[in-house]
Amino acid sequence: MSDKPQGISTLAVHAGTAPDPTTNARITPIYQTASFVFDDVDHAASLFGLQAFGNIYSRLTNPTNAALEGKIAALEGGTAALAVASGHAAEFLTFHALLQPGDEFIAAKQLYGGSINQFNNSYKSFDWHVKWADINNIQSFEDAITPKTKAIFVESVANPAGEVVDIPAIAAIAKKHNIPLIVDNTMATPYLIKPFEHGANIVIHSATKFLGGHGNSLGGLIVDGGNFNWVGDDRYPLLSADRPEYSGLNIGNAFGNIAFAIAVRALGLRDLGPALSPFNAFLILTGMETLALRMERHVHNATLVAEYLEQHPKVAYVKYSGLESSPNRALAEKLSPNGAGAVFTFGLKGGYEAGIELVSKLKLFSHLANIGDTRSLVIHPASTTHKQLTDEQKSAAGAGPEVVRLSIGIEDADDLIADLEQALG
Ligand SMILES: *Cc1c(COP(=O)(O)O)cnc(C)c1O
Repeated sequence: MSDKPQGISTLAVHAGTAPDPTTNARITPIYQTASFVFDDVDHAASLFGLQAFGNIYSRLTNPTNAALEGKIAALEGGTAALAVASGHAAEFLTFHALLQPGDEFIAAKQLYGGSINQFNNSYKSFDWHVKWADINNIQSFEDAITPKTKAIFVESVANPAGEVVDIPAIAAIAKKHNIPLIVDNTMATPYLIKPFEHGANIVIHSATKFLGGHGNSLGGLIVDGGNFNWVGDDRYPLLSADRPEYSGLNIGNAFGNIAFAIAVRALGLRDLGPALSPFNAFLILTGMETLALRMERHVHNATLVAEYLEQHPKVAYVKYSGLESSPNRALAEKLSPNGAGAVFTFGLKGGYEAGIELVSKLKLFSHLANIGDTRSLVIHPASTTHKQLTDEQKSAAGAGPEVVRLSIGIEDADDLIADLEQALG
């Protein structure tokens, strides 16, 4: 084979998943085991001391999960990855590796509603403090930086309105202030955007969404970009200090460009415990093989549905970076040339009541709180996912009373449009 890097469709099928070395099974088996037998006493000791890589216990590593980790690391162009129980677990473990009590991080206010809740509420009990910035005002990220800022967090394509985010501009600010940039790439997937190419340092995913793609399992992924120097940086003690529990091992020094992934696994996953079931890893692996095909159809359908809605008399506006009319279009074409994802919002002239009515009349669209399924999905954020937010936060997050969010599936676009036509009346 040549040295030419493989394309994303090939990587989605092949990366991370060689035939099973002991049985020759072509598909990575579900290694449904809690623990693994040591070769001998010395082997056990070296695994526990982080002197050798190998399997101990499925809270830390598992071969099915390792295949998934290899696949996402290859697709994103990262150095290493970790599979965890959910997207929220991926966010939590990432921040746990970076933040100490009293620390701050900056997050875009255009985020998945669950992330907004997590940051505003639960993280406070760890004494971690979010400062909100606005993707439509890049300077707001720099303005929010203080000496306590330890990370910046954005989505590549922002929930719920499907706005492509100017990652290079935010990465430039992060780099100037030597702060790691975390990008939640759930909505775009590496098929559309590879955040490391634009300066991100850590990528996280809810694999529950487009990666798994079939709405059948929760999962989260953390990918290390290997491009942030933690060595000697005492703002990040988990990465830069000698670890007494590992006989003084210094993770930043010892593991170079995979130090972040090692720290999250050996300190975060080990102690906090949100491991991914190998069964879920298997389902997500199977789903990921068709990522490129599915994303192509998702984006195609989303564009047709958004264009249909834009000209409908009962629709006040459609927010989708894939539309010609979108103020975000130029940025979308630059950063996400294969399309702007398949999740977007639109506003109904009839407001809250019209939103509720539409959701109850749709037949082909499933009314539920998820995105990235093969099926088309609909939700009225103000009465559901964003219900816990104040009215001000709802509007700031693009989830005002008139807003309906769609996640467009891979059905025939004509059928989706016909369903919207009958439901809008
Ligand atoms: C769903 C989602 C999450 C949370 O993931 P879970 O797997 O549900 O825990 C985080 N970020 C984004 C963008 C999401 O869509």
